[in-house]
Amino acid sequence: SFVASVRDSAVPTTTPHRQPRTVGISGAGSAGAALAFANTPDTDAAVAESRRWAAELVTRDVPVPPTAPMSTVEDVDAAIARATAVAPAWAATSPHDRAQVLRLAADKLEQARGDLVATMIAEPGKTVTEADPEVSEAVDFARYYADQAELLADGAIPGAQFRPHGVTVVTPPWNFPVAIPVGSMLSALAAGSPVLVKPAKLTPRCTQVAVAAIHGAMDELGVSRDVLQVVLSPQGEARRRLVTHPDVTRVVLTGSIETAAMFSALRTDLEVFAETSGKNALIVTPSADVDLAVADAVKSAFGHAGQKCSALSLLILVGSAGRSDRLRRQLADAVSSLRVGPATDLATTVGPLTEPATGKLLRALTTLEPGEEWLVEPRRLDDVGLLWTPGIKHGVAPGSFFHTTEVFGPVLGVMRVETLAEAIDLQNAVAFGLTGGIHSLDEDEIATWLDRVEVGNAYVNRHITGAIVRRQPFGGWKASSVGPGAKAGGPNYVAELGRWSDAPEVP
Ligand code: GLU
Repeated sequence: SFVASVRDSAVPTTTPHRQPRTVGISGAGSAGAALAFANTPDTDAAVAESRRWAAELVTRDVPVPPTAPMSTVEDVDAAIARATAVAPAWAATSPHDRAQVLRLAADKLEQARGDLVATMIAEPGKTVTEADPEVSEAVDFARYYADQAELLADGAIPGAQFRPHGVTVVTPPWNFPVAIPVGSMLSALAAGSPVLVKPAKLTPRCTQVAVAAIHGAMDELGVSRDVLQVVLSPQGEARRRLVTHPDVTRVVLTGSIETAAMFSALRTDLEVFAETSGKNALIVTPSADVDLAVADAVKSAFGHAGQKCSALSLLILVGSAGRSDRLRRQLADAVSSLRVGPATDLATTVGPLTEPATGKLLRALTTLEPGEEWLVEPRRLDDVGLLWTPGIKHGVAPGSFFHTTEVFGPVLGVMRVETLAEAIDLQNAVAFGLTGGIHSLDEDEIATWLDRVEVGNAYVNRHITGAIVRRQPFGGWKASSVGPGAKAGGPNYVAELGRWSDAPEVP
């Protein structure tokens, strides 16, 4: 293939809001833990074994680990008091000991793979092929952050401050209800901070099962469970208390920019680490390999029914690529042949939405704006609005609703321009800057694009979702991140979490 290597561009930086861009190039494989399917030798017996395993998972009844709801203000205060009480002892442990906790947690998460996958099928409605790599990502985070804690402790990252502080609150999203909370919790723990995690409302069980695995490791190593507590369902004042309590020094949020702004408004001295939204585009130039471009576009736009911050939302076709009937036909065929259904059906390639389509998503799925036409029209398959066949709208106009708004669901917009420069302008003309891609076999085009594109994760001739821990540290530019902007799965993440707010930036 044209470019078959991965460049590790993840060097630490001094620029807080503009972390170095992560560049992913086609040819990247999984960095760490075994993907049950990808790493299975391709023999009939192994494939049959994988199928049996997957078929068992969709009906597996996973017991929910006992977790007190902690829903009142008093409950939340008591949890924060317990965390504060163990904070000095936890901060005083050596980073090497904390790394051992993370490594054992990685093993326990690996052992819980079946339960975690089964819970992700049952709760957010992930297919096995989406849920299984998410467990691998969680395991990768655990092992990677263990390594980072040790490197920092040994002074291997020059100039890094490493003085843990305060209680960290983690508020993960429902779309990655295992990997994101595990990464956020374990990085803060690695940095020496006790953690309270408030699972997303739609996916409490996924996070509880993951925490149970981590608690298993802590129990074995004699670490108090007060270091990592689940606050299950606080509402109103109890929920606010998680942010306004003076002993909470930091919140790690993956969610909307509005929530991040609300947190910052509630407490000006709170450190908010937030990964927010995206409106992500892939450019296809006339030099591109059309087969690869179409396959990567479909994977990026419709994996987990498009419910990823990293998902592809705009396909920008340049010059003759935009006039190509073949490309349009291939795209329409590929999308029309995706199999929509419940996550419990192993033949499903596009599962259900996690909650029924409303608002912006419903508008995107049901309405054409001026200039748009359906290349593939989405259809609702159920009464409640969870199951939609994926759609493609052609002729999205610059500056229109669909060009600039994140919709978070199974609909892709196509835009056409004459030059690469115009394509990059359209890609950059949105408030967010999370992921982006180019399909091109022309080195000058790739270089121009890398020079100008305003995204945290830039992918060349590769799908634009599924960042790999360590290889592709994940995080956004512009309105896609709030706070120091350190990238998850990257070399300065634990260091940033261990930094006093008045200490200099980690170089
Ligand atoms: N890290 C995920 C990816 O690279 C996206 C996480 C998100 O949607 O928040 O696809």
